Amino acid sequence: MTDLYELTAAELARFLRQGKASSTEITRSFLDRIEKVEDKVKAFITVTPKLALEMAEEADQRISSGDVKPLTGIPIAVKDNMCVKGYKTTCGSRILADFVPPYDATVVRLLKEEGMVILGKPNMDEFAMGSSTETSCFGVTHNPWNPDMIAGGSSGGSVAAVAASEAPTALGSDTGGSIRLPASFCGVTGIKPTYGAVSRYGLVAYASSLDQIGPVARDARDIALVLNLICGHDVRDSTSVPTEFPDFTTFLDKPVKGMTIGMPREFFEKLDHPDVARVIDDAKSTFERLGVTFVDLSLPHLDYGIAAYYVIAPSEASSNLARYDGVKYGHRAEQFEGMIDMYCRTRAEGFGPEVKRRIMLGTYALSSGYYDAYYLKAAKVRTLITQDFKKAFETCDAVFCPTGPSPAFRIGEKIDDPIQMYLTDVFTIPVNMAGLPGISLPAGFSKDGLPIGVQLIAPHFEEGRLIQLSSAYQNETDHHLKRPSL
Ligand code: GLN
Repeated sequence: MTDLYELTAAELARFLRQGKASSTEITRSFLDRIEKVEDKVKAFITVTPKLALEMAEEADQRISSGDVKPLTGIPIAVKDNMCVKGYKTTCGSRILADFVPPYDATVVRLLKEEGMVILGKPNMDEFAMGSSTETSCFGVTHNPWNPDMIAGGSSGGSVAAVAASEAPTALGSDTGGSIRLPASFCGVTGIKPTYGAVSRYGLVAYASSLDQIGPVARDARDIALVLNLICGHDVRDSTSVPTEFPDFTTFLDKPVKGMTIGMPREFFEKLDHPDVARVIDDAKSTFERLGVTFVDLSLPHLDYGIAAYYVIAPSEASSNLARYDGVKYGHRAEQFEGMIDMYCRTRAEGFGPEVKRRIMLGTYALSSGYYDAYYLKAAKVRTLITQDFKKAFETCDAVFCPTGPSPAFRIGEKIDDPIQMYLTDVFTIPVNMAGLPGISLPAGFSKDGLPIGVQLIAPHFEEGRLIQLSSAYQNETDHHLKRPSL
């Protein structure tokens, strides 16, 4: 018999409803799996077995009383930058290493109301700044397909946990690619919803105008189930959009015949990895078999995406991270002389090198005399990128491109070369700049056996269209069913 930890959330939910397994049994199966493989993967900063088993017991009681919602009793891992009341939320940073939030993030409240089971808090790049999970002060997460490789970042732990069957689903956050890039590197499905679709209340801020929470899972069906739960207006987040969301499961198994997908020239000109190019070609052929038409299009300002992002994101980060000064919470230096020295030492000790680099970049870009030259200019580029996509969607239903420029790279390979690290987000950053929804789907493997993902991008609030295309693709292919041997 298949082990419970090998099943998807939808399959587990069916087992629960049919009485074939209890939430407690399911939760134990995942906790045992974590125990077994976590040494190799290191997906979690904190595993919460006690909380998980309590929540599972509560879910079992709810199920026996007939109070069942679609994801009641299903385990989930919550990236360590989302607050879970009473449990450490570290952001992968020394400065928050002992921070225990006194409240739940809105997404966590929603998971609890649904009766989901929190397994733990996965690893991440410090404050979500990175593409490899190597900037975490708790050490690197390993790619379940090859432990010498990075899992991607910044939601590397969330994604590796799903890829290694340590959790059926997880929440990640995506500011410039942090859900989609690791999903591509680890062979799972991950979506960044439209900016404003999911509440950011209780998500520790990195770059507030770009950050968005989203689910990681094995397939489009599970993504639809979690999206149904977490999308929605929240008065506690002023950028949350008051709009009605459809039932995303109604887009599953819907034909895609007659749809048009655009291929941005500027993206494909940059594609120089033969394995990625092959996977893209194969995915295109699959969609064509399903009746999708491909059109060539141009997004002329895409080339400026990374440059503009690395002004906007660090600027917002430098402001957001000013609150970590050792006064109210988080790490405080033990030895100091006077208040200013306390701030300086606390921050010097508490932040890692990448976070310091971003704070310096951002503070510089926002300083008097440079603001117009850098920040304002970047904001204008952002508008141009948004307009490019708007125009593109006049001729196509979705945009198609690689998720990352290559498969996962070796641990240590890019950590001392920030520019190379930043360039891994070349295909994902423009999507955040425009606030659009984007999904990464497992679409094949490199010749060395590493997963490669493809990305689909839709207009604002058209996540349903991404579910439709992804589910049609996954009904036709088996890349998302492959598992690493651990
Ligand atoms: N790699 C990008 C950065 O470092 C994106 C990270 C993210 O999406 N959180 O900023």
